[in-house]
Amino acid sequence: MLFLLVSFPDTRFYIDPHTYEDPSQAVHQFAREIEASRIKIEKIIGSGEFGEVCYGRMRLPGRRDIPVALKTLKAGYSDQQKRDFLSEASIMAQFDHPNVQIEMRRRKPVMLITEYMENGSLDSFLRRHDGEFPVLQLVGLLRGIAAGMSYLAGLGYVHRDLAARNVLVNSNLVCKVSDFGLSRVLEDDPEAAYTTSGGKIPIRWTAPEAITYRKFSSSSDVWSYAVVMWEVMSYGERPYWNLSNRDVIKSVEEGFRLPAPMGCPGPLHSLMLDCWQKDRNLRPRFCHIITLLDKLIRNPENLKLSSPTLMDRAIPDFSSCNSVDEWLDTIKMGRYKEHFAAGGYHTLGKVISVTQGDIQRLGVTLMGHQKKILSSVQVMRVQVLNRSVPSVHV
Ligand code: AMP
Repeated sequence: MLFLLVSFPDTRFYIDPHTYEDPSQAVHQFAREIEASRIKIEKIIGSGEFGEVCYGRMRLPGRRDIPVALKTLKAGYSDQQKRDFLSEASIMAQFDHPNVQIEMRRRKPVMLITEYMENGSLDSFLRRHDGEFPVLQLVGLLRGIAAGMSYLAGLGYVHRDLAARNVLVNSNLVCKVSDFGLSRVLEDDPEAAYTTSGGKIPIRWTAPEAITYRKFSSSSDVWSYAVVMWEVMSYGERPYWNLSNRDVIKSVEEGFRLPAPMGCPGPLHSLMLDCWQKDRNLRPRFCHIITLLDKLIRNPENLKLSSPTLMDRAIPDFSSCNSVDEWLDTIKMGRYKEHFAAGGYHTLGKVISVTQGDIQRLGVTLMGHQKKILSSVQVMRVQVLNRSVPSVHV
């Protein structure tokens, strides 16, 4: 049994394996074979789109065992599935960067071997650690992702599906961009939906020109990167919450942008807004993003929170929910109905002016629940604010 280990040719630009008549040729071009006995499969850790994902160890001569993740191709695969599966290997085999996941290939049975990432995907990692990290550490995660993306952009590789779910986190909290494979990645991403332009696109993470004209570029990756920034700063909140895909497209088209998550310093939200400029040529490049994040890391006083960006106002009733109880059910915080009622919060107009201190006084003690309630209140404020600007709706 043979394995293929990735070697890194001295190419400056990424080569699309689909330009090869037979994509397995591309795998051979970028990989070298190693013996099967070097890999020991220990347990199943998850399931991927093609088959199981296992944990194992790889032994390399003169080195300590390396923990690895092994992706399998389940029995009964079609030729197309095998080609797609291997194309991921030939794309990743061309990469060599600490913030980009690197993959190797095992031949029979066909397996892809990657570095084992102890903390799994970034979105679930953030949700498990809601509110636990200092802002500086979150910026460190973002800096890593920007470095990985800058490397890919430099190779001329456009990711198209950058999202926290497609970033993996290792035991040292190093983030690595993953999930490569062109069309198949989008086919298998549960967030990707069909658009009128025909393709399958993860709407919430994708720049308007890519949704409308399929104009994917490193600038559209920059847009997605800022959505990842927002996911990181909100500890894995779903971008645009429960708005439908269609409403997300409409709102973004009309100028709505995600507000700063709770606890997000102003300069980080400004960077997000820069990356969400409608004109893609005005968005910063990944190398500029790295420079800016480095400046913030060097001068952490700039990461201190400034006053809230949204004003409190006298608010009329909120249209999508008709009562405080309904709103709490919508955000799965129905257990606090009595708390709000006892505190005199009988209308959404009153709720919208609630502060974190008020929520604590009502008896909501869990930080995660306080955040969830406050984020939702913030959305209501944005919606009401936007409603008062004629051309902008949510
Ligand atoms: P994927 O097919 O890449 O979406 O992987 C399916 C699941 O397997 C992911 O959601 C992860 O939880 C897990 N997984 C994939 N690759 C790795 C890895 N390198 N290290 C640890 N877990 C992984």
